[in-house]
Amino acid sequence: MDPRRDSSRTRAIGAAMTWLKSQTQSARRQLRSRRAKRHIDRACADLSPELLLVDYFDTLVWRSVHRRDVAAISAARLASELELATSVADVLVARREAERAEGTKNEAAGFDREFDFLEVAARMHGELNLERTVACADFVELYLEIELSAELATQRLDQRVVDSVRRVATSCDVILVSDFYFPMPTFREMLEHHGLDGIFSSIVISCDHRLSKATGRLYDAVLDGLDGERDRSKILMIGDNPVSDQAMAASRALSTVLLSRPVQPRESNHHR
Ligand SMILES: [Mg+2]
Repeated sequence: MDPRRDSSRTRAIGAAMTWLKSQTQSARRQLRSRRAKRHIDRACADLSPELLLVDYFDTLVWRSVHRRDVAAISAARLASELELATSVADVLVARREAERAEGTKNEAAGFDREFDFLEVAARMHGELNLERTVACADFVELYLEIELSAELATQRLDQRVVDSVRRVATSCDVILVSDFYFPMPTFREMLEHHGLDGIFSSIVISCDHRLSKATGRLYDAVLDGLDGERDRSKILMIGDNPVSDQAMAASRALSTVLLSRPVQPRESNHHR
């Protein structure tokens, strides 16, 4: 057998398998999106909710890469733009350490293990010994801009789910409730980028409260912020996480819709 023909056939089979894998993933995503829309539409028709709470990641948008790859992309860009002597791996280690330290600090103060990106970035500036390279405020601003652009480059809208939520928003208030670490102005920029900014009557982010959906305490903050007494069974939470979006919402007597999304490997802050 001609070894050149053999290796060319192997390459062709490899390319075909890669193409087939991407087509299968796309078809599965479309299938899950249609199911999610049906699920939401049916729950809203059955319940006629008086208030809708909706998750962001893997509900309204999905990422084309894993969350940890977004962090790696932004770390690489940060190292490149600042011409850091530090490796990308070391930037990522510093970030994990800063996130852990900020989470621990907030937990010790009686909150959940939540953290704010601005505080994490400021802590990284010290840990990476960048005092002589760039001012802390400039570093934090640059890192946030890079992280936002990496998020926007990898987020994709689930248009069917968005359309369903948008339709519900014509008859009741919709509050976005997300366990995430971007400050509010940056989170709003993400929503604007996707054309989602007009849907929500309110936006509640875990880092603003140092409380999370994962523990359920962010729901208490949402409920405390509502006007007057509400029939909690008429408040519907839509999301993809069985703990944060379903069990914890149900523990506060809210109604829930759990969307089936692709499973990602567990990590410490897997709910994001
Ligand atoms: Mg989610």
